Amino acid sequence: MEEHGVFAAILASGDNTFKYYSEGEWKVSTSGKSVPIINPTTRKTQFKVQACTQEEVNKVMESAKNAQKSWAKTPLWKRAELLHKAAAILKDHKKPIAECLVKEIAKPAKDAATEVVRSGDLVSYCAEEGVRILGEGKFLVSDSFPGNERTKYCLTSKVPLGVVLAIPPFNYPVNLAVSKIAPALIAGNSLVLKPPTQGAVSALHMVHCFHLAGFPKGVISCVTGKGSEIGDFLTMHPGVNCISFTGGDTGIAISRKAGMIPLQMELGGKDACIILEDADLDLAAASIVKGGFSYSGQRCTAVKVVLVMESIADTLVKKVNEKLGKLTVGPPENDCDITPVVTESSANFIESLVMDAKKKGATFCQEYKREGNLIWPLLLDNVKPEMRIAWEEPFGPVLPVIRIGNAEEGIHHCNASNFGLQGCIFTKDINKAMLISDAMETGTVQINSAPARGPDHFPFQGLKDSGIGSQGVASSINMMTKIKSTVINLPTPSYAMG
Ligand code: NAP
Repeated sequence: MEEHGVFAAILASGDNTFKYYSEGEWKVSTSGKSVPIINPTTRKTQFKVQACTQEEVNKVMESAKNAQKSWAKTPLWKRAELLHKAAAILKDHKKPIAECLVKEIAKPAKDAATEVVRSGDLVSYCAEEGVRILGEGKFLVSDSFPGNERTKYCLTSKVPLGVVLAIPPFNYPVNLAVSKIAPALIAGNSLVLKPPTQGAVSALHMVHCFHLAGFPKGVISCVTGKGSEIGDFLTMHPGVNCISFTGGDTGIAISRKAGMIPLQMELGGKDACIILEDADLDLAAASIVKGGFSYSGQRCTAVKVVLVMESIADTLVKKVNEKLGKLTVGPPENDCDITPVVTESSANFIESLVMDAKKKGATFCQEYKREGNLIWPLLLDNVKPEMRIAWEEPFGPVLPVIRIGNAEEGIHHCNASNFGLQGCIFTKDINKAMLISDAMETGTVQINSAPARGPDHFPFQGLKDSGIGSQGVASSINMMTKIKSTVINLPTPSYAMG
């Protein structure tokens, strides 16, 4: 196990079964069961993680609750210092973590390394922002409200919620985990992570970086197992004081079951890209290919439907097709642009959308091609509202184009969606862009660029079925704290003297 270096501690047996992290220690579950992680490229078991039991979850929650009390009393600058240390360790170990991302979720090699570095930067940024946001409070006086004398001084500060449960999705198992972990910890909460099964081993490596940084036991924990098996027990656990979830419709079900606790839900999207007649079509085509096909379309903010004015549609489609022809298709180890999608069932789902569009008369700009989980990039032109792909999120390298007669039609399609994550507009007319942006019911609108979550400190939120609350550094820290007031009552108005 020597070749695993510092990560040997997280291995349970042989080369491919990993422990879970509880009470500051790496442990093997008493269930005696493990969950396989299938490599999307080879479609063989790559790793295994522990199938944690309900008793083990109870233990983790208890230790998280106990640890949180003293963690909240740890000076803010010390909490920040530990986060900076974890960030540095994470970045130092980007290679082995990126290798896990390549094997578990078929992320292209360069993007995998970028995810780890970006995550380290996000942890550091949270530490810096946290000391400022949490270092300030408010001071209010009573006589600003009608009928009151100046007899009360109110001091407010932000205090932690307690135990935060973080559940990220497979597509950014490190970055979307730290986007929850760092704000929770800087704010004085303890954190329990339930990583996605595909991506769990990358996440366990990341957690080990926090362990190596020296966080007190119980402040951060990580339980593994299938969401369908331990998910309800975790999300309905009475020890949880806040849930930060990123994923698909599962989040809607969790919102219905969770108790009276703050929820941060970052869910799916069907990001529309509206292209007007005066748009820079080279820029639009490049953005559509990058936005729609990076990581094989498996991004919440991927361009998921193109709404282009009929008069420029032929030119745009031609430009997009030229660029699609240049994308490399193959294994993530070779850093190909298009790599296998995460599971066979995802590939089957994508195929079902493609076949539905075929049956209903969409124009195939390329031949549909699939080998195992690998699907070649495909642009579907002349998509109509009766086709499922006009509304559903394929989460794969397949993009529908709908031709529109005017901007209102584009806005109407965007707003008729259940989702409302992001959208984008391509035009040279900034006034028109602003009007369309105002009319689009999405959490963010990008003007002259594809939708994107980053930079990671920007607020990021979805409307409708795309989520509750806002993510981003400041918004997450605020969401993971509550206001505590102390009121000083004076016997006589403060202006009575002198
Ligand atoms: P998912 O199937 O909803 O899974 C997300 C997480 O939920 C995983 O960790 C999963 O664990 C867990 N889970 C499953 N069942 C659960 C349950 N009953 N209770 C609690 N947790 C449970 O989503 P995904 O396939 O990983 O990710 C793709 C989706 O995420 C897409 O819809 C995408 O748009 C969305 N997404 C949104 C954002 C955003 O910020 N808005 C960002 C990225 C992705 P297991 O893996 O063990 O099942």
